[in-house]
Amino acid sequence: MQKIALLGSTGSIGTQTLEVVRENEDMQIVSMSAGKNITLFEKQIREFKPLMVSVQTEELAKELKIKIKDLNIPVYYGKEGLIQVAVCESATIVVTAIMGMIGITPTIAAICEGKDIALANKETLVTAGHIIMPLAQEKGVKIYPVDSEHSAIFQCLNGEEKGSVSKIILTASGGPFRGKSLEELKHVTLQQALKHPNWSMGKKITIDSATMVNKGLEVIEARWLFDVDYDQIQVVIQPQSIIHSMVEFKDHGVIAQLGTPDMKLPIQYALCETQRRFLSEERLDFWSIPSITFEKPDFEVFRGLSLAYEVGRKGGSATTAYNAANELAVAKFLNEEISFLEIYDMIEACILKHPFVENPTIEDILETEKWIYEYIESR
Ligand code: NDP
Repeated sequence: MQKIALLGSTGSIGTQTLEVVRENEDMQIVSMSAGKNITLFEKQIREFKPLMVSVQTEELAKELKIKIKDLNIPVYYGKEGLIQVAVCESATIVVTAIMGMIGITPTIAAICEGKDIALANKETLVTAGHIIMPLAQEKGVKIYPVDSEHSAIFQCLNGEEKGSVSKIILTASGGPFRGKSLEELKHVTLQQALKHPNWSMGKKITIDSATMVNKGLEVIEARWLFDVDYDQIQVVIQPQSIIHSMVEFKDHGVIAQLGTPDMKLPIQYALCETQRRFLSEERLDFWSIPSITFEKPDFEVFRGLSLAYEVGRKGGSATTAYNAANELAVAKFLNEEISFLEIYDMIEACILKHPFVENPTIEDILETEKWIYEYIESR
């Protein structure tokens, strides 16, 4: 039985994780957390009957306790609540489907307790990869990527020797603004940015796809997950999103993973610890795919991607600055407070101005995040 602690059950990855659990009798949700959507959370609690739950604030916890008082399930809240859910004694694996840097501490707590991780939360490795990966190795914990690109690479690497990789090829759809010039990007709207051509995802990650910061975050994640240098990670635009990523090996053979745009496959692959199981989703029909095409990304227009390589190579707190500045900038764009291109300006300013720390601890990482937020708000 795979006993699952699910962080972020009400989100896009969280709800799809629950769909996978519904279809697999040997999976059980033992603990779960949500943010503010307690209406949906209550329904999920009633269906999956976890041993404990957590929500974002004390007030929401009080409200939820009243709603589910007949169930006698402990309700926690805040950062501590997330840790409680992540370290739930009977959990064997933790799905980190929570949004933002708040996902780092519970992930570390779970690793320290020897729980495997199905990693969706991008911020964890982007900001703390240098801490997480050695810790996981020390504790004998497996990290299964849930992001479709990293899962694709993970699938391509299954059974291959560690030293045999020459290059990781991360594919990107290019997002809704592929092929646009800087001049054209000056005038794009929030509604246009939210229209991803192929994937249906949460709002934040959809904007990150439009700026290509999402691909930048994935480049940094790939560096840590697969222990490669930045020179070994190549981003290729594959607009149809059919190839989810590829690996080139030393003998110049390339293995690719292909599929329909569906997160349930990577989620299930992680929860089944790489075992292949039936999924009732739509299949690729190669007779109806007219072409699969490739392009080089435009690093000058989509600065979010070039900045990721820059901060990745610089290391230290630079990746946290990149991530935290992007988080707040995207929130402001979603609120229609800033324009699309100003997202890049904010990220660039924060990378340059923040007090750089060479080898940040978790406290330094959280301090950098705080500094970035204050800096942006003071501008
Ligand atoms: P969503 O915004 O759809 O969901 C986020 C989840 O986190 C929700 O359950 C939300 O609760 C909860 N949450 C947010 N803030 C807090 C908080 N402060 N305290 C407690 N809970 C909180 O995000 P996604 O599912 O799209 O993404 C989740 C993570 O997975 C991100 O890091 C993303 O980059 C990554 N990812 C997502 C992919 C996708 O296809 N969506 C693909 C690959 C990676 P509530 O809604 O109740 O407020």
